[in-house]
Amino acid sequence: MQPLEELLVWDKKDPSWSQYRIKEKIFTQMKKIGKYSFGIGDRFAHQGSAQLRALLKAQNGGIEVTPVWNKSNREHMYVHSKPADTRAEADQAVKELAYKGDYCVDADHINLSNVEGFVATSDFFTIDVASKIGIAASAEAVDAFVASCAAYTGELKIPAIAHPFHVDETLLKTIAGKFLTAIDEAGKIYRFIAENKKSGDFVTEISMDEVETPQSPVELFFILKMIANQGIPAQTIAPKFTGRFNKGVDYVGDVAMFAKEFEEDILVIDYAVKEFQMMDNLKLSVHSGSDKFSIYPEIQRIITKYDKGIHVKTAGTTWLEEVIGLAVSGGEALKAAKSIYAQALSRQEELCAPYADVIDIHADQLPTAEAVAEWSSEKFANTLRHIPGHPDYNPNLRQLIHVGYKIASEMGTYYTDLLKANKAVIGQCVEENLYDRHLKRLFTL
Ligand SMILES: [Zn+2]
Repeated sequence: MQPLEELLVWDKKDPSWSQYRIKEKIFTQMKKIGKYSFGIGDRFAHQGSAQLRALLKAQNGGIEVTPVWNKSNREHMYVHSKPADTRAEADQAVKELAYKGDYCVDADHINLSNVEGFVATSDFFTIDVASKIGIAASAEAVDAFVASCAAYTGELKIPAIAHPFHVDETLLKTIAGKFLTAIDEAGKIYRFIAENKKSGDFVTEISMDEVETPQSPVELFFILKMIANQGIPAQTIAPKFTGRFNKGVDYVGDVAMFAKEFEEDILVIDYAVKEFQMMDNLKLSVHSGSDKFSIYPEIQRIITKYDKGIHVKTAGTTWLEEVIGLAVSGGEALKAAKSIYAQALSRQEELCAPYADVIDIHADQLPTAEAVAEWSSEKFANTLRHIPGHPDYNPNLRQLIHVGYKIASEMGTYYTDLLKANKAVIGQCVEENLYDRHLKRLFTL
C-alpha cells in the first residue's frame, strides 16, 4: 500500500486554510467500519468472549453488528492495564469463538498527550476534542473558515428537514469561535496517528460528547465542514445530545426532543457527506454511558426509516454484570460483591468526584452496608440489575457501584480469581445483558 504521507497532499491553491485535502485514495485504503457497530467496554478484560457471544447471537438473528472493544486512558489508569491488554482480550475472544467477522479495538477518548501508547494496538481511535471547545482561533483562521462556507449562507435547506436554517456571517463566526480550535486539534491528532501507523488501517471517530451544552444540528453541519477541511476521514461522530446520559442508568430528558435532534443529525450527516465529500459510511456514535433504554427504540426507528448505520458505545454495563454475577454465584463471591458496595459507600465522595457531571445519586436512597450485608443473592442482583420497573431496582446503588470499579481493582487477584472461579455464571449475565437488554432494543431482533 502507498504510504499515507504521500496520499496526504497539500493543495497550496486551496482557498481554505487546511493543510491536507481529502483524497479519494485515503478513503479507499481506510479500514471501513460496518453499518452497525457496538462498543463493548470491559474494565477488567475478562468478559471478551461473553460479549462476543451476545453479538454473535445478533448475527444469528440476521443483524451484523461489529464488536468494538473500547477502553479509555482513564480506565487504563484506574485498573492499571495497558492498551495492549484490550487487544489481547479481543484477539483471544475472536479466537476462542472462531469469529470470522471484522472487529476493532478502540482507543477511547484519546488526545494528543496520550494517543501514542494506543497507536500500535488500536485500529479505532476516538479523538476527543471536547476540552478545546470554546478556545478562540486566530482571526485569519475564522475568516478562512467563514469564506469556505460562502455557499451555505442564507436559507440553508437540508433535504428532508422541514425547516431551513438561517445562516449568516455572525452565526458562522460564532460556530467557528466554538469549534474551530477543537477540530484543528482533531486534525493534529489524526495526522499523528496516520503518520505513526503508516497505514490507513484504522477507523477515526471525533467525539465532543463530554461537554455540558449539546451541539445543535446546524452546528454539527459546520463541524463536519471543519472536519472535511482538515481532511480527517471520520467514520463516526459523537456529538453531545440533549438530555442527561448518566452512567449505567436510563436516559434522563425529553425523549421526543432527543428523537427530533437525532433525526436531524442523521439528515445533516447525509447531506454533509455529499456536499463535503466525506466518507460515505460516516455515522453517528452515541456515547451512551450505558443503558439508555428509553431512547433505543427511537434510535432504531430513525435509523430504520433512513436506512442508516449507528455506533453505540457502552462501558460500565459489563462491569456491573460482573458484580451481579458475583452476587448470583453466592458464597465468597456474594461476600465480595457486598464488600465492593460497603467500601464504595464509605468512599462515595472520592469515587464520585471524577464522574460528578454524569451521575445523579440520591444519597438518602442508598441502603446501609449493614442492610446489604443481610441480603440474599437474589435481592442484591435485583437491586443492581437494570430492569426498569422492577420493585427492587435501585438506580442510586447502581450508579455508585458503576463508579466503584476502582475498589475491585484494588482487590487485585482476589477479585480476578473470583471472576475466573465464577466465569460461567458471570459470562451468562454479561451475554444476557448485552443481547436481551441492549441489542434487542436497538435492532430488530
Ligand atoms: Zn464519550
